[in-house]
Amino acid sequence: MLILTTVDEINRFISSCRNLSKTIGFVPTMGALHQGHLELVKKSIKENNITVCSVFVNPTQFNDKSDLEKYPRTLDKDCTLLRTIKTDVVFAPTVAEIYPSNIEVVVPELGGLDLVMEGEFRPGHFEGMAQVVKRLLDIVKPDRLYMGQKDFQQFTIVQYMLKKLQSEVKLVILKTIRENNGLAMSSRNQRLSEEMKNKAGLIYRTLTTVKKQTGKKTPEMIAEYAKKRLSKAGFEVEYFAIVDGNSLKIVHDFNKHSYVVACVALWAEGVRLIDNMILKNVKKFD
Ligand code: AMP
Repeated sequence: MLILTTVDEINRFISSCRNLSKTIGFVPTMGALHQGHLELVKKSIKENNITVCSVFVNPTQFNDKSDLEKYPRTLDKDCTLLRTIKTDVVFAPTVAEIYPSNIEVVVPELGGLDLVMEGEFRPGHFEGMAQVVKRLLDIVKPDRLYMGQKDFQQFTIVQYMLKKLQSEVKLVILKTIRENNGLAMSSRNQRLSEEMKNKAGLIYRTLTTVKKQTGKKTPEMIAEYAKKRLSKAGFEVEYFAIVDGNSLKIVHDFNKHSYVVACVALWAEGVRLIDNMILKNVKKFD
């Protein structure tokens, strides 16, 4: 497994792959890897000749400085995990490599998808996320890009951006990997106590109940029920939104939409957790 840290190094590597007509799969991450990340990498290894996994904590997508400081950084452990599953390349650049003063990364307008839910509570987050994804795609030039359903709004925005840029990169989405109690795996879970990790299984159970109620009650009633259930258990709920999976606009009538998703963000022990569940689906993820 190669561990590359500079843009020059990865440029040279990618050119050599292209000269040999090798396909490239790319998995961007912020490190502190868990099974959710590894499933993305494994899928890429299956579908491409070469898999590049980036580990880069992108400062431009953090609106909260202390969140950026507290974000776990475990590169050595990450490399050990990636080596075990036979990843070809880890790209672990510095901030200066990704954002040199002579390059301005311009992202297209994101159609308002960046302003709701996460965008409302984390202003500027998606602009920063789109910026780093665009820059990394320009560097790695993959055939396929692998992302998790866990970050529903994120991949919806990336899909929108790829279309706007007329990019030929194929976005592959994989389902959310969960702990035994249903808690979505997240690098941030490391900061939760064992007790809270157990308790946070309620997020998944609530989403599951919401799915069962879909079509039987109005979206407003269901969202209200979910908010109350989670708040009552002591979570500080930022939003529980039932949205159209394409426009991310709030759904008022299930019958008028074919792709509906419930998205939630809440705080537990000072850690911000997000999760989602597809309630009504025309799209399926692997
Ligand atoms: P992150 O390191 O949090 O930026 O995540 C990197 C990629 O891994 C993103 O595409 C995430 O959606 C994906 N990911 C994170 N957690 C999970 C999970 N529990 N299941 C599946 N994919 C995930």
